[in-house]
Amino acid sequence: MPGIKELKGTLSASLREGLLSHAVLIEGEKGTGRKELALWLAKAILCKSEERPCERCSVCRKIESGNHPDVEIYGGNGGARSFHIESIREIKNSLWLAPNESEQKVYILLNIENMTQEAQNALLKSLEEPPSHARFILTCDNRRNLLDTIVSRSTVYNLEPSPREECASALLENFPDLSEKDAELFSIACGGNFGAAKALIQEERGDIVFLAAKTPELLRGGNYYSLAAELNRKCAARADFSEYLEKLLNITGRCGIDRAAGKKTPVKVTPMEAVKTSEIIERGKLAVLQNCSVDLIESWLCMELSRVFGGNL
Ligand SMILES: [Zn+2]
Repeated sequence: MPGIKELKGTLSASLREGLLSHAVLIEGEKGTGRKELALWLAKAILCKSEERPCERCSVCRKIESGNHPDVEIYGGNGGARSFHIESIREIKNSLWLAPNESEQKVYILLNIENMTQEAQNALLKSLEEPPSHARFILTCDNRRNLLDTIVSRSTVYNLEPSPREECASALLENFPDLSEKDAELFSIACGGNFGAAKALIQEERGDIVFLAAKTPELLRGGNYYSLAAELNRKCAARADFSEYLEKLLNITGRCGIDRAAGKKTPVKVTPMEAVKTSEIIERGKLAVLQNCSVDLIESWLCMELSRVFGGNL
């Protein structure tokens, strides 16, 4: 997965110098590779090879498969408040026991924004005075969703979504049938977030991206009704329509900016069109949140966008 190379370099260097904090907090949006980086760091901490992590020794392989007795993983894909204090109690019970095979123990706590307030408070105590053999690797979507005291006791590493070009080339590697043009388009539509783009393709929901990409052209040609019909067919569900709005916003925004800078873009959008489109989409998103009928918002959107792209109704 791209985008985490630089961070691996930074973490490797702090580990080598003995400067790595006993509590590392990896912050990044979904799809940026938080869990991958957490596992990689656990390997780097426990692997005994010269080049750490070697990804080949038994330590590295046990961690990768989730079978290392000194690496405990908690949390994961549950929703808000799904990460309970019971898990922190379990951690406390084993925290002061000596490691089994290695010299250190690593506790990986994933998506800690899902922790209850009670669990966060309990975790705080373990973070304050851990035994010297213990290390914590925490991941979250955004530090603002955590207690300040947890953030202040950790060293935070921010995982940025990978740059667009990196995302596009990783998509081409993963999906050999994808054309270069489509890889670029998916990358732009997902704001360079490789995980998000990959999921869209795997779940065969790429149609939404293609529809967003051809929206300006359809409207320029005065095809208001065919856009409305396609939206009706492909984005009848509120979640799909929201996704369409987000992709359209990303595509027009990025192409507008690139065009202003004189770069070639996969979709033709002037900077002024991009600005106007973003205003309309913000209003559309609000309407979606307010539970207006999706049908109604779609018709309204087509009409508003028609004005931007100069189509005649
Ligand atoms: Zn190794």
